[in-house]
Amino acid sequence: MSNWSHKLLKWYEVNKRELPWRGVKDPYKIWLSEIILQQTRVNQGWDYYNRFVEKYPTVSKLASASEHEVLKLWQGLGYYSRARNMHHAAKQIMQQHKSKFPKDYEAIRALKGVGDYTAAAITSIAYNLPYPVVDGNVLRVYSRLLGISTPIDSTEGKKKIWEAAEELLDKKNPGTYNQAVMELGALCCTPKNLNCAECPVQASCYAYAHKQTAILPIKEGKTKVKERFLNYIVIVHGNKILLHNRQKKDIWKGLHDFPCIETVKRTSPEKVMLSKEWKDIFHSNKPIIKSVSEPYTHILSHQRLNAVFIKTEVNKALKKLPENCLWVERKNIDTYAVPRLIEQYISKYF
Ligand code: SF4
Repeated sequence: MSNWSHKLLKWYEVNKRELPWRGVKDPYKIWLSEIILQQTRVNQGWDYYNRFVEKYPTVSKLASASEHEVLKLWQGLGYYSRARNMHHAAKQIMQQHKSKFPKDYEAIRALKGVGDYTAAAITSIAYNLPYPVVDGNVLRVYSRLLGISTPIDSTEGKKKIWEAAEELLDKKNPGTYNQAVMELGALCCTPKNLNCAECPVQASCYAYAHKQTAILPIKEGKTKVKERFLNYIVIVHGNKILLHNRQKKDIWKGLHDFPCIETVKRTSPEKVMLSKEWKDIFHSNKPIIKSVSEPYTHILSHQRLNAVFIKTEVNKALKKLPENCLWVERKNIDTYAVPRLIEQYISKYF
């Protein structure tokens, strides 16, 4: 073990944050925490982790839940494919591994939604097996510490850092070592406002010695954000509301929203009401326009959604329901899993 990794482990013992999954050795719970934390900040993930552990304390409990229930509990966390994959993987474990969480890296890596990072985290933390974890934090820490200037979002950069991480891993305590590097990235070696003064490995750090902490890591290019324009048609009939179950390969698969007319640019509600899609929804029905919402903007990792909700009322039921739509009682609307954008609209307008 190098001198600096010894210092890192000592620092970790004293400074690590107390988190609900800290010290946990149950691979199922480690898996759960890692999936939640993939695209979620610790503060937000904390509650969800506790809720999931409480409702589904074992992998068999999760496997026997319905997808609808799992999505509902996940509601608000975003990146819903994580929940669907997790549910699918729980069933995989029941069928292919006799209800026991698998123990070796390859079998864990083969579970739906589990990548190299998650498989390494589970095997090293739960079983103390020598697999290095490489996530965004780790890429940043090693790039600075070792002075690696190959872009960390390139295949070559990732490979270089992965090889370094494998070599530097403390093979006796891989789980603790992996968590210590990630904790360093979360507490000292942060993307901005670094805390080099408190960093246990400052004396060995290339970026610190060469005044390159603001330059490293280098990134090849930022992802382009796609603009989308969603004109939601909210249809009320008596005490029922028409919901749409998203089944296509797009964002929010499995969740509910409203029938939607998507346009390539911002379009006035009047124009939307003259469109062919509008006529295809209402046919001969003459909806009463109850309200047009203010514009909503909802940011996802690669998309910016610009949404407007046109609330309508119809006196007679629609002749033919748009694809994957269903009438639901207004009082039951909260039992359906919906994305946060829709939740915000519902809470204000219903
Ligand atoms: S000294 Fe600063 S840049 Fe270097 S590893 Fe520590 S926090 Fe990161």
